[in-house]
Amino acid sequence: MKKKNLFIFFILIIISAIFVIMEDKMEAKEANKQGKIKVLNVITGKFEEVEIINKSSDEWQNELDKEVYHVTEEHGTERPFTGELLKNKKDGVYVCIRCGTHLFDSDTKFESGTGWPSFYQPVAEENIGTKVDNSFFMKRIEVHCPRCGAHLGHVFDDGPAPTGKRYCINSVSLKFQEEKNSN
Ligand SMILES: [Zn+2]
Repeated sequence: MKKKNLFIFFILIIISAIFVIMEDKMEAKEANKQGKIKVLNVITGKFEEVEIINKSSDEWQNELDKEVYHVTEEHGTERPFTGELLKNKKDGVYVCIRCGTHLFDSDTKFESGTGWPSFYQPVAEENIGTKVDNSFFMKRIEVHCPRCGAHLGHVFDDGPAPTGKRYCINSVSLKFQEEKNSN
């Protein structure tokens, strides 16, 4: 009788172990699915699936300039009227400094007078992440890169037509690519 109980107990352990392994595998599969996003590639004009980049702050600190790290990882703000791309009027696409995701088209850049590069819309809604930011006793909408999480700036509702939005972006969060329509 005791032996039989032991046998049943042993079988139950094995069944539980199989379930745990199966669940782990399913979770891994789900995580992998969640680890990808679709963003617009302005050069090809097509949406493509890309891996989300999950690096620790330490890893970013090792890779980035001090100011880029401060703005993109620590949600800092560059001093107004200092950004290299503030007065850039060339035709091209503004991409994420950290991962190259296409963010803003030069056609949507406008002079806001704020001292930071300003755009009235991203290349696609999918290419920009937003989050409510309650810091400094203000309710603002923070804007970040959906792929690598780089903090870019904020979006406000006082922009020009056609969207009425003003994406106020730190120049150091951006890199400019001139060849917008090349194949
Ligand atoms: Zn990025």
